[in-house]
Amino acid sequence: MPAPAIALAGAAARNPRAARRVLLIVAALLGLWLVLLIGVLGAIFGIQPLQGGGYGPSKLAGAEIPPAYLKLYEQAGARYGIDPWILAAIGSIETAHGTSTAPGVRAGVNSYGCCAGPMQFSITAGATPAQGGRGGTWAGYAHAADRARLARPPAYPGRFTAPAFARANVYDSYDALYAAAAYFHALGAGPGLDERTYRALLSYKGTPPASIPYARHDYERARELERLAGRTVTAGAVAPAFGADMVRVAPAGAWLAAVPGAPGERCDRRILPNLVYLIRRYRLAVTDCYSTDPVHAAGGEHPLGLGADLVPGAGGSWELVDALAAAAEPVQDQPRPPFRWVGYDGDPNHGRGNHLHLSWQHAPAAFNTPAPWVLVAR
Ligand SMILES: [Zn+2]
Repeated sequence: MPAPAIALAGAAARNPRAARRVLLIVAALLGLWLVLLIGVLGAIFGIQPLQGGGYGPSKLAGAEIPPAYLKLYEQAGARYGIDPWILAAIGSIETAHGTSTAPGVRAGVNSYGCCAGPMQFSITAGATPAQGGRGGTWAGYAHAADRARLARPPAYPGRFTAPAFARANVYDSYDALYAAAAYFHALGAGPGLDERTYRALLSYKGTPPASIPYARHDYERARELERLAGRTVTAGAVAPAFGADMVRVAPAGAWLAAVPGAPGERCDRRILPNLVYLIRRYRLAVTDCYSTDPVHAAGGEHPLGLGADLVPGAGGSWELVDALAAAAEPVQDQPRPPFRWVGYDGDPNHGRGNHLHLSWQHAPAAFNTPAPWVLVAR
Protein backbone atom coordinates (compact mmCIF):
# COMPACT_ATOMS: atom_id res chain seq x y z
CA MET A 1 0.00 0.00 0.00
CA PRO A 2 2.95 2.46 0.06
CA ALA A 3 2.29 4.14 -3.28
CA PRO A 4 -1.36 5.19 -2.64
CA ALA A 5 -0.43 6.31 0.89
CA ILE A 6 2.24 8.64 -0.47
CA ALA A 7 -0.16 10.00 -3.09
CA LEU A 8 -2.82 10.58 -0.43
CA ALA A 9 -0.37 12.38 1.84
CA GLY A 10 0.59 14.68 -1.02
CA ALA A 11 -3.06 15.56 -1.66
CA ALA A 12 -3.59 16.26 2.03
CA ALA A 13 -0.71 18.73 2.18
CA ARG A 14 -2.35 20.78 -0.58
CA ASN A 15 -5.89 20.59 0.79
CA PRO A 16 -6.71 20.67 4.52
CA ARG A 17 -10.27 19.36 3.97
CA ALA A 18 -8.90 16.35 2.22
CA ALA A 19 -6.58 15.84 5.17
CA ARG A 20 -9.41 14.70 7.44
CA ARG A 21 -10.55 12.21 4.82
CA VAL A 22 -6.99 10.98 4.47
CA LEU A 23 -6.73 10.53 8.23
CA LEU A 24 -9.92 8.47 8.20
CA ILE A 25 -8.62 6.31 5.37
CA VAL A 26 -5.27 5.84 7.10
CA ALA A 27 -7.08 4.93 10.34
CA ALA A 28 -9.20 2.40 8.45
CA LEU A 29 -6.11 0.89 6.83
CA LEU A 30 -4.34 0.70 10.19
CA GLY A 31 -7.42 -0.98 11.67
CA LEU A 32 -7.44 -3.54 8.88
CA TRP A 33 -3.75 -4.12 9.36
CA LEU A 34 -4.27 -4.60 13.11
CA VAL A 35 -6.96 -7.20 12.46
CA LEU A 36 -4.56 -9.05 10.18
CA LEU A 37 -1.74 -8.75 12.73
CA ILE A 38 -3.94 -10.17 15.48
CA GLY A 39 -4.81 -13.03 13.17
CA VAL A 40 -1.14 -13.72 12.46
CA LEU A 41 -0.15 -13.55 16.13
CA GLY A 42 -3.11 -15.72 16.98
CA ALA A 43 -1.92 -18.29 14.50
CA ILE A 44 1.65 -18.17 15.79
CA PHE A 45 0.82 -18.30 19.47
CA GLY A 46 -2.15 -20.60 19.19
CA ILE A 47 -4.80 -18.07 20.20
CA GLN A 48 -6.83 -19.23 17.26
CA PRO A 49 -9.00 -22.23 18.21
CA LEU A 50 -7.73 -25.40 16.63
CA GLN A 51 -10.03 -26.90 14.07
CA GLY A 52 -11.11 -30.26 15.47
CA GLY A 53 -9.08 -32.86 13.65
CA GLY A 54 -9.15 -30.44 10.77
CA TYR A 55 -7.05 -30.84 7.68
CA GLY A 56 -7.46 -27.88 5.46
CA PRO A 57 -6.70 -24.37 4.49
CA SER A 58 -6.42 -22.18 7.54
CA LYS A 59 -9.05 -19.70 8.53
CA LEU A 60 -6.43 -17.02 7.94
CA ALA A 61 -5.78 -17.91 4.35
CA GLY A 62 -9.49 -18.56 4.06
CA ALA A 63 -10.36 -15.16 5.49
CA GLU A 64 -8.36 -13.42 2.83
CA ILE A 65 -9.10 -15.72 -0.08
CA PRO A 66 -12.75 -16.46 -0.84
CA PRO A 67 -13.19 -20.17 0.12
CA ALA A 68 -14.48 -21.20 -3.32
CA TYR A 69 -11.47 -19.47 -4.80
CA LEU A 70 -8.98 -21.11 -2.44
CA LYS A 71 -10.31 -24.47 -3.56
CA LEU A 72 -9.77 -23.48 -7.19
CA TYR A 73 -6.14 -22.55 -6.51
CA GLU A 74 -5.55 -25.86 -4.74
CA GLN A 75 -7.28 -28.02 -7.32
CA ALA A 76 -5.75 -26.27 -10.33
CA GLY A 77 -2.31 -26.51 -8.70
CA ALA A 78 -2.77 -30.20 -7.90
CA ARG A 79 -4.00 -30.95 -11.43
CA TYR A 80 -0.94 -29.42 -13.07
CA GLY A 81 1.56 -30.36 -10.38
CA ILE A 82 2.41 -26.81 -9.37
CA ASP A 83 2.40 -24.93 -6.09
CA PRO A 84 -1.07 -23.51 -5.35
CA TRP A 85 0.29 -20.61 -3.30
CA ILE A 86 2.07 -19.17 -6.31
CA LEU A 87 -1.32 -19.03 -8.05
CA ALA A 88 -2.88 -17.52 -4.93
CA ALA A 89 -0.11 -14.92 -4.69
CA ILE A 90 -0.61 -13.81 -8.28
CA GLY A 91 -4.38 -13.76 -7.85
CA SER A 92 -3.95 -11.74 -4.68
CA ILE A 93 -1.46 -9.19 -5.99
CA GLU A 94 -2.81 -8.73 -9.52
CA THR A 95 -6.53 -8.64 -8.93
CA ALA A 96 -7.46 -9.34 -5.27
CA HIS A 97 -8.71 -12.77 -6.35
CA GLY A 98 -10.78 -11.42 -9.22
CA THR A 99 -12.60 -8.83 -7.10
CA SER A 100 -10.55 -5.77 -8.17
CA THR A 101 -12.39 -3.12 -10.15
CA ALA A 102 -9.21 -2.03 -11.96
CA PRO A 103 -9.31 -2.03 -15.77
CA GLY A 104 -8.63 -5.40 -17.34
CA VAL A 105 -9.81 -7.56 -14.45
CA ARG A 106 -13.49 -8.05 -15.26
CA ALA A 107 -13.53 -6.33 -18.67
CA GLY A 108 -11.13 -4.75 -21.14
CA VAL A 109 -7.35 -4.86 -20.71
CA ASN A 110 -5.08 -3.50 -17.99
CA SER A 111 -3.34 -0.12 -18.03
CA TYR A 112 -0.44 -1.63 -20.01
CA GLY A 113 -2.93 -2.51 -22.73
CA CYS A 114 -2.00 -6.18 -22.82
CA CYS A 115 -3.59 -8.29 -20.17
CA ALA A 116 -6.94 -9.43 -18.93
CA GLY A 117 -8.74 -11.44 -16.30
CA PRO A 118 -7.97 -12.46 -12.72
CA MET A 119 -4.59 -13.94 -13.71
CA GLN A 120 -3.77 -11.16 -16.22
CA PHE A 121 -3.14 -13.24 -19.31
CA SER A 122 -1.99 -11.34 -22.39
CA ILE A 123 -4.64 -11.24 -25.12
CA THR A 124 -4.73 -9.58 -28.54
CA ALA A 125 -8.48 -9.32 -29.25
CA GLY A 126 -11.93 -9.87 -27.87
CA ALA A 127 -11.50 -7.85 -24.69
CA THR A 128 -15.07 -7.87 -23.46
CA PRO A 129 -16.66 -10.31 -21.02
CA ALA A 130 -19.00 -11.47 -23.82
CA GLN A 131 -16.09 -12.08 -26.22
CA GLY A 132 -13.94 -13.69 -23.58
CA GLY A 133 -10.52 -12.71 -24.92
CA ARG A 134 -8.49 -14.18 -27.79
CA GLY A 135 -4.88 -14.54 -28.85
CA GLY A 136 -1.72 -13.85 -26.86
CA THR A 137 -0.49 -16.21 -24.17
CA TRP A 138 -4.11 -16.94 -23.34
CA ALA A 139 -4.60 -18.75 -26.65
CA GLY A 140 -2.08 -21.42 -25.66
CA TYR A 141 -3.65 -22.29 -22.31
CA ALA A 142 -7.33 -21.38 -22.58
CA HIS A 143 -8.24 -25.06 -22.84
CA ALA A 144 -6.53 -25.99 -19.57
CA ALA A 145 -9.75 -26.23 -17.55
CA ASP A 146 -10.76 -29.19 -19.75
CA ARG A 147 -8.43 -31.20 -17.54
CA ALA A 148 -9.96 -29.87 -14.33
CA ARG A 149 -10.22 -32.22 -11.41
CA LEU A 150 -12.77 -30.04 -9.66
CA ALA A 151 -16.10 -29.66 -11.44
CA ARG A 152 -16.92 -26.02 -12.14
CA PRO A 153 -18.57 -24.76 -8.94
CA PRO A 154 -22.04 -23.22 -9.28
CA ALA A 155 -20.82 -19.93 -7.83
CA TYR A 156 -17.46 -18.24 -7.34
CA PRO A 157 -16.13 -14.67 -7.58
CA GLY A 158 -15.61 -13.67 -11.20
CA ARG A 159 -17.78 -16.22 -12.94
CA PHE A 160 -18.28 -15.51 -16.65
CA THR A 161 -19.66 -17.85 -19.26
CA ALA A 162 -17.55 -18.67 -22.28
CA PRO A 163 -18.48 -16.99 -25.57
CA ALA A 164 -20.24 -19.13 -28.16
CA PHE A 165 -17.09 -19.76 -30.23
CA ALA A 166 -14.80 -20.68 -27.32
CA ARG A 167 -14.60 -23.11 -24.45
CA ALA A 168 -13.14 -20.63 -22.02
CA ASN A 169 -13.34 -16.99 -20.96
CA VAL A 170 -10.19 -15.11 -19.90
CA TYR A 171 -12.27 -13.14 -17.35
CA ASP A 172 -13.63 -16.29 -15.74
CA SER A 173 -11.74 -17.25 -12.57
CA TYR A 174 -12.13 -21.00 -13.08
CA ASP A 175 -10.87 -20.90 -16.66
CA ALA A 176 -8.09 -18.43 -15.81
CA LEU A 177 -6.77 -20.31 -12.75
CA TYR A 178 -6.48 -23.61 -14.57
CA ALA A 179 -4.87 -21.81 -17.53
CA ALA A 180 -2.36 -20.15 -15.19
CA ALA A 181 -1.56 -23.51 -13.59
CA ALA A 182 -0.99 -25.07 -17.03
CA TYR A 183 1.16 -22.11 -18.10
CA PHE A 184 3.29 -22.39 -14.94
CA HIS A 185 3.69 -26.08 -15.57
CA ALA A 186 4.83 -25.33 -19.14
CA LEU A 187 7.30 -22.77 -17.78
CA GLY A 188 8.87 -25.49 -15.64
CA ALA A 189 7.34 -24.78 -12.22
CA GLY A 190 7.14 -27.69 -9.80
CA PRO A 191 4.94 -28.54 -6.83
CA GLY A 192 7.00 -26.63 -4.26
CA LEU A 193 8.07 -23.05 -3.63
CA ASP A 194 11.61 -23.50 -4.83
CA GLU A 195 14.13 -22.45 -7.47
CA ARG A 196 12.13 -24.09 -10.28
CA THR A 197 8.97 -22.23 -9.37
CA TYR A 198 10.84 -18.94 -8.97
CA ARG A 199 12.40 -19.31 -12.43
CA ALA A 200 8.97 -20.00 -13.93
CA LEU A 201 7.65 -16.95 -12.14
CA LEU A 202 10.37 -14.78 -13.70
CA SER A 203 9.02 -15.75 -17.12
CA TYR A 204 5.37 -15.46 -16.08
CA LYS A 205 5.95 -11.86 -15.00
CA GLY A 206 7.77 -10.86 -18.18
CA THR A 207 11.44 -10.98 -19.11
CA PRO A 208 14.32 -10.81 -16.62
CA PRO A 209 15.87 -8.58 -15.39
CA ALA A 210 12.78 -6.34 -15.69
CA SER A 211 10.57 -9.04 -14.18
CA ILE A 212 12.81 -9.73 -11.17
CA PRO A 213 11.22 -7.32 -8.66
CA TYR A 214 7.70 -8.47 -9.62
CA ALA A 215 8.65 -12.12 -9.41
CA ARG A 216 10.30 -11.58 -6.01
CA HIS A 217 7.23 -9.80 -4.71
CA ASP A 218 4.88 -12.58 -5.85
CA TYR A 219 7.22 -15.26 -4.53
CA GLU A 220 7.39 -13.66 -1.08
CA ARG A 221 3.60 -13.34 -1.05
CA ALA A 222 3.28 -17.04 -1.92
CA ARG A 223 5.58 -17.98 0.93
CA GLU A 224 3.57 -15.81 3.28
CA LEU A 225 0.27 -17.40 2.22
CA GLU A 226 1.74 -20.88 2.55
CA ARG A 227 3.09 -20.06 6.00
CA LEU A 228 -0.23 -18.62 7.17
CA ALA A 229 -2.07 -21.69 5.92
CA GLY A 230 0.39 -24.10 7.51
CA ARG A 231 0.27 -22.47 10.92
CA THR A 232 -3.29 -23.35 11.69
CA VAL A 233 -3.62 -26.70 10.00
CA THR A 234 -3.71 -29.30 12.70
CA ALA A 235 -3.44 -33.02 12.46
CA GLY A 236 -5.97 -34.28 14.97
CA ALA A 237 -7.18 -37.75 15.88
CA VAL A 238 -7.08 -40.35 13.14
CA ALA A 239 -10.58 -40.26 11.73
CA PRO A 240 -10.67 -42.19 8.47
CA ALA A 241 -11.28 -39.86 5.56
CA PHE A 242 -10.80 -39.90 1.81
CA GLY A 243 -12.82 -37.25 -0.01
CA ALA A 244 -12.42 -35.54 -3.36
CA ASP A 245 -10.66 -32.46 -1.99
CA MET A 246 -6.88 -32.51 -2.20
CA VAL A 247 -5.20 -30.51 0.52
CA ARG A 248 -1.58 -29.87 1.41
CA VAL A 249 -0.92 -30.36 5.08
CA ALA A 250 2.06 -28.83 6.88
CA PRO A 251 3.73 -30.65 9.81
CA ALA A 252 2.02 -30.21 13.17
CA GLY A 253 2.96 -31.96 16.39
CA ALA A 254 4.61 -35.37 16.31
CA TRP A 255 5.88 -36.50 12.92
CA LEU A 256 5.18 -40.26 13.12
CA ALA A 257 2.20 -42.06 14.59
CA ALA A 258 1.23 -45.70 14.97
CA VAL A 259 -0.96 -47.24 12.28
CA PRO A 260 -4.12 -48.50 14.01
CA GLY A 261 -4.34 -52.29 13.76
CA ALA A 262 -0.76 -52.67 12.46
CA PRO A 263 1.47 -53.30 15.50
CA GLY A 264 4.92 -51.75 15.16
CA GLU A 265 4.08 -49.80 12.00
CA ARG A 266 4.31 -46.03 11.98
CA CYS A 267 3.64 -43.45 9.24
CA ASP A 268 3.74 -39.68 8.94
CA ARG A 269 0.56 -38.97 10.87
CA ARG A 270 -0.76 -36.70 8.11
CA ILE A 271 -1.49 -39.64 5.77
CA LEU A 272 -3.16 -41.76 8.46
CA PRO A 273 -6.77 -40.62 7.85
CA ASN A 274 -6.37 -41.63 4.19
CA LEU A 275 -4.50 -44.83 4.97
CA VAL A 276 -6.94 -45.97 7.67
CA TYR A 277 -9.82 -45.32 5.30
CA LEU A 278 -8.18 -47.47 2.59
CA ILE A 279 -7.28 -50.24 5.07
CA ARG A 280 -10.92 -50.53 6.17
CA ARG A 281 -12.51 -50.16 2.77
CA TYR A 282 -10.17 -52.59 0.98
CA ARG A 283 -9.50 -54.85 4.01
CA LEU A 284 -5.75 -54.42 3.91
CA ALA A 285 -2.80 -55.19 6.14
CA VAL A 286 0.18 -52.82 6.29
CA THR A 287 3.52 -54.61 6.07
CA ASP A 288 5.69 -51.49 6.11
CA CYS A 289 5.32 -47.73 6.25
CA TYR A 290 7.98 -45.49 7.84
CA SER A 291 11.31 -47.28 7.39
CA THR A 292 14.95 -46.36 6.82
CA ASP A 293 15.79 -49.97 5.90
CA PRO A 294 18.03 -49.99 2.78
CA VAL A 295 15.61 -52.51 1.24
CA HIS A 296 13.54 -49.42 0.34
CA ALA A 297 14.67 -46.67 -2.04
CA ALA A 298 16.57 -44.03 -0.04
CA GLY A 299 15.00 -41.28 -2.16
CA GLY A 300 11.52 -42.80 -1.89
CA GLU A 301 8.72 -42.23 0.57
CA HIS A 302 9.34 -44.95 3.17
CA PRO A 303 12.11 -42.94 4.94
CA LEU A 304 9.67 -39.99 5.01
CA GLY A 305 6.83 -42.05 6.48
CA LEU A 306 4.80 -41.33 3.33
CA GLY A 307 4.83 -44.73 1.61
CA ALA A 308 2.82 -47.78 2.65
CA ASP A 309 3.21 -51.41 1.60
CA LEU A 310 -0.12 -53.20 1.51
CA VAL A 311 -1.32 -56.80 1.24
CA PRO A 312 -4.73 -58.44 1.85
CA GLY A 313 -5.71 -58.24 5.53
CA ALA A 314 -8.42 -59.99 7.54
CA GLY A 315 -11.40 -60.62 5.26
CA GLY A 316 -9.47 -59.18 2.33
CA SER A 317 -8.31 -60.56 -1.02
CA TRP A 318 -6.00 -59.80 -3.92
CA GLU A 319 -9.12 -58.84 -5.90
CA LEU A 320 -9.65 -55.98 -3.44
CA VAL A 321 -5.99 -54.96 -3.70
CA ASP A 322 -6.34 -55.06 -7.52
CA ALA A 323 -9.33 -52.74 -7.22
CA LEU A 324 -7.44 -50.24 -5.08
CA ALA A 325 -4.39 -50.33 -7.37
CA ALA A 326 -6.61 -49.65 -10.39
CA ALA A 327 -8.37 -46.78 -8.62
CA ALA A 328 -5.08 -45.22 -7.50
CA GLU A 329 -3.39 -45.59 -10.90
CA PRO A 330 -5.88 -46.21 -13.74
CA VAL A 331 -3.08 -45.83 -16.30
CA GLN A 332 0.45 -47.12 -15.65
CA ASP A 333 2.73 -44.38 -14.29
CA GLN A 334 -0.10 -41.87 -14.06
CA PRO A 335 -1.12 -42.04 -10.40
CA ARG A 336 -4.12 -40.00 -9.32
CA PRO A 337 -3.64 -37.44 -6.53
CA PRO A 338 -2.93 -37.65 -3.67
CA PHE A 339 -0.62 -40.47 -4.76
CA ARG A 340 2.87 -39.79 -6.08
CA TRP A 341 3.80 -43.36 -6.95
CA VAL A 342 1.80 -46.57 -7.10
CA GLY A 343 3.86 -49.79 -7.20
CA TYR A 344 1.91 -52.79 -8.46
CA ASP A 345 1.64 -55.01 -11.57
CA GLY A 346 4.24 -53.83 -14.08
CA ASP A 347 6.65 -52.60 -11.36
CA PRO A 348 9.51 -54.95 -10.33
CA ASN A 349 9.09 -56.53 -6.86
CA HIS A 350 5.51 -55.24 -6.62
CA GLY A 351 2.15 -56.47 -7.84
CA ARG A 352 -0.57 -59.03 -7.21
CA GLY A 353 0.71 -61.77 -4.92
CA ASN A 354 3.59 -59.55 -3.75
CA HIS A 355 2.42 -56.19 -2.44
CA LEU A 356 0.91 -52.82 -3.40
CA HIS A 357 2.97 -49.74 -2.61
CA LEU A 358 1.28 -46.33 -2.28
CA SER A 359 3.22 -43.06 -1.89
CA TRP A 360 1.65 -39.70 -1.13
CA GLN A 361 2.72 -36.50 -2.95
CA HIS A 362 4.92 -34.24 -0.87
CA ALA A 363 7.33 -31.32 -0.92
CA PRO A 364 10.98 -32.23 -1.46
CA ALA A 365 12.42 -33.54 1.82
CA ALA A 366 15.77 -34.87 3.01
CA PHE A 367 16.16 -38.55 3.94
CA ASN A 368 14.45 -39.40 7.24
CA THR A 369 12.77 -36.02 7.79
CA PRO A 370 9.13 -34.87 7.76
CA ALA A 371 8.16 -33.32 4.41
CA PRO A 372 7.23 -29.60 4.53
CA TRP A 373 3.85 -30.54 3.10
CA VAL A 374 1.96 -33.68 2.17
CA LEU A 375 -0.98 -33.87 -0.23
CA VAL A 376 -3.90 -35.73 1.31
CA ALA A 377 -7.47 -36.41 0.26
CA ARG A 378 -9.96 -34.89 2.62
ZN1 LIG B 1 7.07 -49.78 -0.54
